Amino acid sequence: MLDRTLRRRLPPRIATPEFWPATFDRFDEILSTADHCQVEHIGTSAGGRAIHAVTYRGRSNAPTLGLVGGIHGHEPQGAAACLNVISVLGYGRDLKGTSWPGIVDDINYVIVPVANPDARARMPNSFVGLARQDILHYDAGITIEGERYDPSRGNCSPDRMMILGGLFNDAGQHISRENEPESVRSPETGAVMEFMSEHGPDVVLEFHAHAAPPLMIRPTRFIPPQVQEEQMALCREIIEAATTEDILFDGKVLDSERSSAALYHQLCGATPLIYESPQGVLDSKAPWSHEQIIETCMFVVSCLCERLMH
Ligand SMILES: [Zn+2]
Repeated sequence: MLDRTLRRRLPPRIATPEFWPATFDRFDEILSTADHCQVEHIGTSAGGRAIHAVTYRGRSNAPTLGLVGGIHGHEPQGAAACLNVISVLGYGRDLKGTSWPGIVDDINYVIVPVANPDARARMPNSFVGLARQDILHYDAGITIEGERYDPSRGNCSPDRMMILGGLFNDAGQHISRENEPESVRSPETGAVMEFMSEHGPDVVLEFHAHAAPPLMIRPTRFIPPQVQEEQMALCREIIEAATTEDILFDGKVLDSERSSAALYHQLCGATPLIYESPQGVLDSKAPWSHEQIIETCMFVVSCLCERLMH
């Protein structure tokens, strides 16, 4: 057996810009000063970390947008984007000073910035400027034999891992594969779904990232046809708006039968969507900067807000 400190060694702390909060000291700093929002402790992760949710109230009877970041620890841009949205709602500007007129304070927002804090805690802050291979060392993790864990095997046993991957909580649960109410086992999915079902958002956008250009995904498990049509309409609008703005975007909309994001509909009645952001790795078609990555996350949120206002 490898020594415990070696197994649980801290990830490299890549220096990231101020507008890319990726560590718990920054999360706490931003959330503890967000007086315009209600911040709640909605649950505790398998590893004993607090899961926080943020509520922003617009006008009464206004539609509600749900945002969920940090499902996967090796995809730090989602949490960062959520905190930038919280900044816009309080101060009219994101964390680098850009205003987003589309992200209006009329509507309600229900936000879980870091849904899987265990994974965030053990993953690097960013993969911008690195290689695709660097992500592969972290996403599904490395077994004590030194091989990449096969994520299609589902949950992993943390004791058998040299690097416990960003897909998992500290108990080795692959939380984004709990895609039916009966399959929810992890405290993370349980807490997020309970919070969302309490607030009944109209749309929930879950942030993910990959080594490719921006992409919209429809979670489709047990999603009725009329909701799938609504998902497609929203995705098309985002893609068209991005094309108009000359933002590189994958024109295809993928379907996922496996994603737990379908629970936002099954349990909460929302229209669920997934946005896959570029990771910013150099050997991909979108070797983007931190700035481009956050701007495009914000752009997608802004498009959804505009749609909800109409
Ligand atoms: Zn992901």
